[in-house]
Amino acid sequence: MGHPVEENLKIVRQQMELACQASGRKIEDVKLLLATKTVPLDKLQMAIQAGETLFGENRAQELRDKFPLMQQYNQVEWHFIGHLQTNKVKDVVKYVTFIHSVDRLKLGQALHHQLVKENKTMDILVQVNTSYEESKFGVPPETALELVEQLSQFETLNVKGLMTIGKLNAANDETRHCFRLLKLIQSQIREKKIPRVEMDILSMGMSCDFRVAIEEGATMIRVGTSVFGQRYLPDSYYWNDNAHRDD
Ligand SMILES: *Cc1c(COP(=O)(O)O)cnc(C)c1O
Repeated sequence: MGHPVEENLKIVRQQMELACQASGRKIEDVKLLLATKTVPLDKLQMAIQAGETLFGENRAQELRDKFPLMQQYNQVEWHFIGHLQTNKVKDVVKYVTFIHSVDRLKLGQALHHQLVKENKTMDILVQVNTSYEESKFGVPPETALELVEQLSQFETLNVKGLMTIGKLNAANDETRHCFRLLKLIQSQIREKKIPRVEMDILSMGMSCDFRVAIEEGATMIRVGTSVFGQRYLPDSYYWNDNAHRDD
């Protein structure tokens, strides 16, 4: 038996394969991103040593804390997957190559402003609130296309696709509905052939629902608990805190 992180990774990878087989998809078409909020450095290191290369953080502060480790491994890519306040843009842009959670024009403007200053570009996904829950961030499905069009005007931002958090603690088919909706929005946006916009990535599925997400077309799943174990902070700390909204 290896370290628990290694064992858990094997299990998750097996489950990904099964979900791919069940839905006639190729395993190479689904990437595993490890959600590492609250996860200590030694566990992260285990995952890196086991060959994992995609990691996602939710907070600027934690990115900063983990930066020394990031610097040791240049094969590892860091993504930002949490709610991003405009006043944290500067800190986040410094550390990541990809942002999954762009959900409003104001954030796009703030990112563009900072990226111009730094002479950089950033790959982004537009986060869509497919479950229509108040507590979740994301643009409403009805205005996703409009936001993508607006964001495409910023030459520093490369729109690569869409992200969503499916309805949690819900019946399987309710969650599935969220993922289907994201896929539908993807195809509607694709039809518009918006210049500079790519729609190849669908970031959807977490520990509780990644198999369903794969069946519904996820190209990237974001998994934390199944690999690293339970977190000591509730997710409401990251997701539901309306006090942290800045617009
Ligand atoms: C924490 C988190 C995940 C992973 O959640 P698990 O249930 O631990 O797998 C995925 N996406 C986002 C945006 C997260 O904040």
